[in-house]
Amino acid sequence: MPCKVAAYDPDLLTCWYSDGYKVGMWMNTPSFSYETLSAPASTFSNYLSTAYSHAWLKWKQGGKNTTYNGSTGGTGDIHCIGGTYTEIYAQTNYQLDPGSTAATAYTSYFLSYLDYNGATKELRTIQSGVRIYFAEHNYSSTEATDRYKNTMMHELGHALGWFGHASSGCIMYAYSSMLTELSYKDKDHINQIY
Ligand SMILES: [Zn+2]
Repeated sequence: MPCKVAAYDPDLLTCWYSDGYKVGMWMNTPSFSYETLSAPASTFSNYLSTAYSHAWLKWKQGGKNTTYNGSTGGTGDIHCIGGTYTEIYAQTNYQLDPGSTAATAYTSYFLSYLDYNGATKELRTIQSGVRIYFAEHNYSSTEATDRYKNTMMHELGHALGWFGHASSGCIMYAYSSMLTELSYKDKDHINQIY
């Protein structure tokens, strides 16, 4: 089911909570998949599975006009690869910054422009090929579930088109936390596009 494609419209952007000047949207509803490079029975695999389900549901519920299609098999339009920094590099040649818990990478997009209060914003229309690199961490057992959920929600936000970062109290804040619910800023910023 295709998403609404935003045409140039000076009135389109009604709120802007990002510290960046770019926003993205998917041309068609993306599929989402994930894999773990560590042993399937490992605790990290279970954390990743829980985080994936949670993040997907929250963004789906938070979307105003769009339902995203989640899938766990194969390689989705948005594909998450979890493992240690070393495993991720060995498998993908992507070097995750040791100071980061995860990262989202894009291969291609169509570029257009939007206006928000007289400022030009860049609209990146994404078709496929987004990868989330998701690092395993030595969190305490009391914090791990929420920290992985928070990280997955944050990266999925980027993957869905949330470029830049929001203020503290948001999932899209630049620093990870134990928050596991979207703020109104998290939702409204991306819903104005879809
Ligand atoms: Zn981020």
